[in-house]
Order: sequence, then structure tokens, then C-alpha cells
Amino acid sequence: MAAPQLASDSSGSANRIASTSRADCCVVGGGPGGALLALLLARRGVRVTLLEMHKDFDREFRGDTVHPSTLEILDSIGLAGRVHELRHSKISGPTLLTTQGPFTPVDLRVLNTKFPYILMVPQKNLLEMLTQEAAKLPGFELRMGANVTELIEDGGIVRGVRYQSDDGVHEVRATLTVGADGRFSRIRQLAGFKPVSTSPPMDVLWFRLPHLPEDPVAQGGAFGGIGLGHLLIGLDRGEHWQAGYVILKGSYQELRAQGIEGLRRGIIAIDSRLAKHVESLTDWRQVMLLSVESSRCPRWAKPGVLIIGDAAHVMSPIGGVGINYAIQDAVVAANLLTRPLLEGHVPLADLQEVQRQRERPVRFIQFIQTQIQKRLVTAVLNSQRQLLEVPWYVRKLLTFPGIRKIPARLIGYGLTRVHVEN
Ligand SMILES: Cc1cc2nc3c(=O)[nH]c(=O)nc-3n(C[C@H](O)[C@H](O)[C@H](O)COP(=O)(O)OP(=O)(O)OC[C@H]3O[C@@H](n4cnc5c(N)ncnc54)[C@H](O)[C@@H]3O)c2cc1C
Repeated sequence: MAAPQLASDSSGSANRIASTSRADCCVVGGGPGGALLALLLARRGVRVTLLEMHKDFDREFRGDTVHPSTLEILDSIGLAGRVHELRHSKISGPTLLTTQGPFTPVDLRVLNTKFPYILMVPQKNLLEMLTQEAAKLPGFELRMGANVTELIEDGGIVRGVRYQSDDGVHEVRATLTVGADGRFSRIRQLAGFKPVSTSPPMDVLWFRLPHLPEDPVAQGGAFGGIGLGHLLIGLDRGEHWQAGYVILKGSYQELRAQGIEGLRRGIIAIDSRLAKHVESLTDWRQVMLLSVESSRCPRWAKPGVLIIGDAAHVMSPIGGVGINYAIQDAVVAANLLTRPLLEGHVPLADLQEVQRQRERPVRFIQFIQTQIQKRLVTAVLNSQRQLLEVPWYVRKLLTFPGIRKIPARLIGYGLTRVHVEN
């Protein structure tokens, strides 16, 4: 790092810079997309600095699902064993309570893969594992507590970032800056990329229910159902059920006004087998409100900067695929950008190629999510129906093995499979 100095930014204001360092690539955001991109680039000899604004990886909920495609990607870089050593549970597909009995719309066991399941791993542990692996490589540096606040621009080209940490403002100058900083992306905003919102009409309440000795085991490690205008999902996390209760956007205060009993009643109305479990819910502090968003940026790149993952396309939690897509963006970006980064010059066309390859799968899954939200979730939430009704022809179609693989492939891999180029 160079000695402290005064630097002026593109707006002409002078800042005291505590340090300046250089990297080939500066990745902003240590979520799944940023952490994997940094690891993949460092494996190939690119000098990478990864900046994460939090001081640890243990922060608000963002999903703990590791899909078959991500497991295959980790396998291809020798990390499948390590990820399976982390505390985990496995889910092969949810069993929904319907008017015609239990129904499993997605069964990952039909996939032809070493990993026909979603591995549920605390995201904190996954991110620690990825960054620990990267830290073994000479060109990698992780800076925690580094909150990026500015882009360094020169002649219309982004040359790096400035970030704030406990000991002042620092600079990382880099050939390429990648914004992998999530749905409220600062890099997206600083670069002037405007997301087009497709905000779903729902939010999720997120809480734990205990595993009881007499629990009916949900086939596939997950259950779901609807009732009295709400949708409930439960994921087996070993020692407890992780539950999500879908509500109409804006209806949280109304529900809270009924007291925690209102939530307990709503859960039992969906699945009376949970009457004992809900006794553990005694206070709203046990319940987290997760705001559901969805959007996509028409532009992901300009000279010197690229955005990936939720920064480029905020994913709704339908299907739980957001992590998967951020990881796939990272793989495609690493495949396309390693060579130009090693050569010290990344043409805009290469950055645009990342968007070109990833935009179609993203548009496709967001279209499917929107359809599900509109036709299923909104219909369910607005109705007072007691149980989900699945049309007979959907059940019939899903008895054909070829057709049964379609939803499993979409959830497991997305529209296309991506592979790490070694
Ligand atoms: C309610 C809800 C439930 C979800 N459930 C699931 C699920 O079960 N499975 C699933 O696959 N997806 C789920 N998702 C979507 C998933 O959370 C995202 O798609 C995924 O985390 C995107 O990964 P990412 O790496 O792009 O960004 P993120 O995981 O959001 O990571 C971005 C990182 O950037 C850091 N950062 C932000 N700003 C700055 C800054 N200025 N400087 C430095 N660092 C910064 C953040 O601290 C964060 O660590 C859910 C989303 C919601 C809203």
C-alpha cells in the first residue's frame, strides 16, 4: 500500500486517502457471486481484491440453498467435499398439501447428477469456505468492513473504487471493478445503471419452528401449503424447520395488530399438524420480515465496470434460485475475463458478452417467477380457499419421466448449465 495522500475524485473534491493499492480486478461485495468470482480469478493468477462492507459474513438472511448446478461447479474446482463437510441438510423437493392430497411438483432425484438435491448450508459457512480457499492463493486479498462509496473515474473509464473503513478512506485502483454488491448495489447506482422493477406483490415472514420427536417427516425435506390467504413453506434444517409465511405486500402491520396469535392461527389453518410447533412462537421478535423485490438492469457494463448477481438482476425468492444465478454469473465472468485481465486490458465488448450470455437465462427465470407469482401466489393470497388445488392435467403430465425432469432441471440448473473453464 502507498503512503497516505490527498486525491481528488471526478467531482473535484479532495479526500484524505489512507492508502492506495492496485489489483487487476476489484470485486465489490462478498456474497456468493462476488466470493466465487474472486476465487475463480485468483485461481488463474489474476490479482483480486474483494471488498465486503460487513465485518463478518454473519448477517441478515439471504438464503442457504446450494443447488445441483452450484454443487457441480464446486466439484469442478475440488470443493464438493469441503462443502459437504459443512453442517447441512438436503432437500430434493417440496411436498405440498393440496385438495387431492400430498403433491411434489419438483423432485431433484430425477436429475442425472452426482448431486440430486439442494444442500442447505448456512450462507455464512459457505462464504467463509470460499474466501478461505481464495486466501490460499497469492493474488487474493479480502478486506472486510470496507464500505465502497465512490468510483474512481478517469476520462469516462472506471479505474477502481474508494471505500470507507474504520481507519479512513482507502483506494483500490484496478483494471476492472465488478459490482457484486447485491440488490441495493452501490456500484450499480454510482455507475448510473437503472434497474427496471418487476416488484412482486408479496413479502415473507421468516421464522423457525421446532422439530418435534413425533414429526411427520416431509418427503423431500420440505413442505408447503396454503390457507386463508397465505402460503407457508417449511425447510428441514436438521434441528429445526425454517419456515416462510408469504403475505401480501403491505399487510404486515395488519397482521401484527392481531398479535402473534394471528400468525399462529394462520399457520394452523394451513397445516393443523403444526399446532404444537407454533406454541414456540411467542413474540414478534422471533419473526423476520423479508421484503421481496425483483428487477433487472438493461445495462450491466460500461468501460472499467461490470455488475453481476443481484446487483444486475434482483431475484425473487420463488424457486430459491438467486444464489444459483449469482454463482453462474460469476463463472461466466471468470471464463470470459481472465485472459483480458491478465493482459491488463478488458474491452467493453468482453464485459457486454458477460451480460449477453447471462441475460437470456435471467430473463427466462424471472418470466417464470412472475407467472408463478401472478397466477399462483396472488390468486392464493387473494382467495380464502383452504387448500391448494392442482389441476388434474398438471398431475398427469408430471407422471411422465421426461416432463418430470423439466421443473427439476429449471430449479436445479436454470435454463443453461455453465462450466468453469480451467
Ligand atoms: C426473502 C428472500 C429470500 C431468499 N431466499 C433465497 C433462497 O432460499 N435461495 C436462493 O438461492 N436465493 C434466495 N434469495 C435471493 C438471494 O438472496 C440473492 O439472489 C443472492 O444472495 C444474490 O447473491 P449476490 O452475491 O449477487 O448478492 P448478495 O448475496 O446480496 O451479496 C452482496 C454483498 O455485497 C455487500 N455489499 C453491499 N454493498 C456494499 C458496499 N457498498 N461495499 C462493499 N460491500 C457491499 C453485502 O454486504 C453483501 O455481502 C432470497 C431473497 C429474498 C429477498
